[in-house]
Amino acid sequence: MSGKHKLIAALDAQIAALDAQSLRRRLRIAESPCAPHVQVDGRPMLAFCSNDYLGLASHPRVIAALQEGAALYGAGSGASHLISGHSRAHALLEERLAAFMSPQIEHVRALYFSTGYMANLAMLSALGGADVELFSEELNHASLIDGARLSRSQVKVYPHGDVAQLANLLRDSKAAKKLVVTDSVFSMDGDLAPLAALLSLCEQYDAWLVVDDAHGFGVLGAHGRGVLEQLDLRSPNLIYMGTLGKAAGVSGAFVAAHASVIEWMVQRARPYIYTTASSPAVAHALQTSLDIIEGAEGIARRAQLHSLIAYWHESMRPRQWQVIASDTAIQPLVIGDNAKAMQIAAALYEQGYWVPAIRPPTVPAGTARLRVTLSAAHEKADVARLVAAILELEKIQE
Ligand SMILES: *Cc1c(COP(=O)(O)O)cnc(C)c1O
Repeated sequence: MSGKHKLIAALDAQIAALDAQSLRRRLRIAESPCAPHVQVDGRPMLAFCSNDYLGLASHPRVIAALQEGAALYGAGSGASHLISGHSRAHALLEERLAAFMSPQIEHVRALYFSTGYMANLAMLSALGGADVELFSEELNHASLIDGARLSRSQVKVYPHGDVAQLANLLRDSKAAKKLVVTDSVFSMDGDLAPLAALLSLCEQYDAWLVVDDAHGFGVLGAHGRGVLEQLDLRSPNLIYMGTLGKAAGVSGAFVAAHASVIEWMVQRARPYIYTTASSPAVAHALQTSLDIIEGAEGIARRAQLHSLIAYWHESMRPRQWQVIASDTAIQPLVIGDNAKAMQIAAALYEQGYWVPAIRPPTVPAGTARLRVTLSAAHEKADVARLVAAILELEKIQE
């Protein structure tokens, strides 16, 4: 054999093209549990990139519960939920989640999924369809976009936060079934969707409001119930998705909605039906995450996170770069130029700070940024060190 296989050569050329535009992404190997202080590719780093907002990913009680779950239920579920994989651990978790979300949703039932990506595919493919018009916020997460495609609905994209534009679209819609779909906390800016206004539109036009609260569940609201609690929203039109791999520190997700919505998903959502149920040990561990989120420790961890967010805003005073107002754990710092943002992230990495740079097309042209995520596991001194390092780099740039 001489030379490369034709199919492989074509792929390698595509990869080389990514390389040439500095768009090739690389995996880094984390060699220690998820925490602010991590070992990465053999080096100690201070990390500001995880979604472990409450620091539960390596919490001793959650780790112990995962071990206990494996001892009680075994390692694997063995089958999909509707065949024989639905264990007591999954059922108990779903009951807990429903009880937890009951102040925000009437006749609530919860359905657990192995990931948020799957939950979004399941939700939209069960509720969408050729006779459905789906109104999708411009900055929605990729999993909602893919779910909308899978659902074969007629998709209309409305501009970011633009309630008036959505009102026009809903008014003009002739579809019998309507679905408005939005992230609650936008993952590149940390801002909130105008959910109260969206919900009253949905009530006016008999549309469902599907809320993806991946970055809000566990973090927002006095009890950590997420954005619905924070904004004091409750309505039969609401369908809520929360993830359990971010603030809850483990993995998976859930949909909480009226019991009829959930029953329909169990009957019809292919991404729920045709996949092996996740390990029951994970569902068991998540009950401990919920205990922590709901209890006094959760309150203390959210308070710590919010004091770090306040400290970031007080101390991060760049001369040219731009801090975006965000009350969530996601704190972007806009640098502007792509190459400069990459260079700053690389310089920080050299100094032992792990902060991702985000470029177009993920964010609008000219707004390349550092995306800092804060966690209750950080200490104020960690944030102070990062702020000092960034401000020093900005000074050198001038
Ligand atoms: C992370 C995320 C998801 C996907 O959740 P996973 O559990 O990681 O699959 C969905 N939506 C949003 C907005 C997210 O940030």
